[in-house]
Amino acid sequence: MPRPLRVRLDGAEWRVTWSGRMQDYGICARGANRESRIIRLRSRQTDDELLDTLLHEALHALHWEVEEAVIAERATELAALILRVFEVRRKVR
Ligand SMILES: [Zn+2]
Repeated sequence: MPRPLRVRLDGAEWRVTWSGRMQDYGICARGANRESRIIRLRSRQTDDELLDTLLHEALHALHWEVEEAVIAERATELAALILRVFEVRRKVR
């Protein structure tokens, strides 16, 4: 399982951790203090699923006030965009 990471989102430090026992693909939790900001990712998912999940949870972290359906839609759109651009670039090389 990958080691936990510390990343910065919107100027705050977040911990990114992995779990092999999650039903959800990911969870974003923002507590009252900065130490309790965490993104937890299910370890068993494909790279494509992980990209969507990571964007989804990062968008939650950046836009806490935005509703779930909008976050889900935007994350999936961004993941598709990124995968498509990399796919096209790979074919040119
Ligand atoms: Zn969500």
